[in-house]
Amino acid sequence: MFDELDREVFAAGEQIFKIGDTGDCAYLIEKGLVEVFVVIQGVEQLVSSMGKDEMFGEIALIDQQPRTATVRAAEKTVLVPVRRKLVENLLEKSDPILRHLLLVVLERFRSKQGNTSKPAISTVAEQEQSDRRSALKGEATQKLSLAHGITRALTHEEFQLYYQPICNMTDGHIAGFEALIRWHHPTEGVIPPMDFLWLAEQTGLIRDLGLWTLERACRDWPVLRQYTCYEHPFVSVNLSPSQLTCESVVDDIHAIIARHNMPTTELKLELTETVMVEHPEIALRILNKLIELGSSVALDDYGTGHSGLEHLQRYPIGTLKLDRAFIAPMLGSTQSMQIVQSSIDLAHSLGMNVVAEGIETKDVGDKLLDMKCDFGQGWHFGRPAALKDLALRYAKS
Ligand code: C2E
Ligand code: CA
Ligand code: CA
Repeated sequence: MFDELDREVFAAGEQIFKIGDTGDCAYLIEKGLVEVFVVIQGVEQLVSSMGKDEMFGEIALIDQQPRTATVRAAEKTVLVPVRRKLVENLLEKSDPILRHLLLVVLERFRSKQGNTSKPAISTVAEQEQSDRRSALKGEATQKLSLAHGITRALTHEEFQLYYQPICNMTDGHIAGFEALIRWHHPTEGVIPPMDFLWLAEQTGLIRDLGLWTLERACRDWPVLRQYTCYEHPFVSVNLSPSQLTCESVVDDIHAIIARHNMPTTELKLELTETVMVEHPEIALRILNKLIELGSSVALDDYGTGHSGLEHLQRYPIGTLKLDRAFIAPMLGSTQSMQIVQSSIDLAHSLGMNVVAEGIETKDVGDKLLDMKCDFGQGWHFGRPAALKDLALRYAKS
């Protein structure tokens, strides 16, 4: 990144900036030494010296205030300027909570220094900056309150699992169910997983949430199992990437399985390729341990990610789940059809079975049966529903 930036060279004794200057950049010292001076009781005093790789003038990056120190080169010095524009671009992409925190710390630092005056808004640019600051505060508050809400929801039993049938293509009978989380928010109503899982993942809350899901699915399994009609019934639980990079997950899963007397072979764990790409070694180790427990692994959303053949060979995957993105348009797209057919053939040649996701119509289901797909999931077979509603739908009278 810094290769693109210019360098500034100062001779020994040369001033880099002085108190009162307006600054729009910090400096990273590539080579040399600088000395920092402040004025105490009217007398300029040396307060620090800095050398290679240290940074100074950083406060100017975030506020529009004049410099509060004078800096001179103590010897020939090469500096890399870090301009406000660059930092603003980087900050723009960073987490709003961290950005907000940084600005609050800076404001406190400024007020401690006695510089409490907030710049009066007089230009369009200043107004824009003030608006951005307000928007950032709002974004940070919203994110924090969502994170807090997830924690509260866990203790207040606001989460619920819905189950969607996964059916045998040949006879349409239920082979298993996939557990899908829902959040019954006290004021917002039902929140779908995609609206909160990303934050749970970012904040680490996903680990507790993941264990809750597993616990609940194992607890519900004896009831769910009655609605299946297959020699190897299963319940599928989604594991998030960060769960698969936490070594303790195997012990946690083991404890949950034992607590509920869950037959391990009837628990299927669904994961996406993300974790195999980002943390290949640790994910492989954890997956192998889960297989040793007796559970099986399904590769979710196949076709949307990296889909490296290498992953299919290297990881202990028993099931390939073809993403809805290929299934839904299949009948109208030769390309989707070919991708689906070759994925099914590939999975079978590697000894895996295949679940096609997002089957919404009978025609698509019939086609997939012709293509030798093993299992199907989608609205055609049944939408996800709460356990009590499944009882109404499937209970044998
Ligand atoms: P997914 O694992 O790919 O789950 C399938 C999604 O497709 C579900 O969305 C399901 O409701 C939806 N679906 C099923 N059949 C059809 C269909 O025929 N047509 C259409 N249009 N959609 C269909 P949902 O429940 O909103 O879940 C979204 C994603 O959230 C899941 O995608 C999964 O990645 C994640 N997720 C859900 N529950 C959990 C959980 O407990 N833990 C973790 N880590 N992730 C979860
Ligand atoms: Ca899934
Ligand atoms: Ca999926």
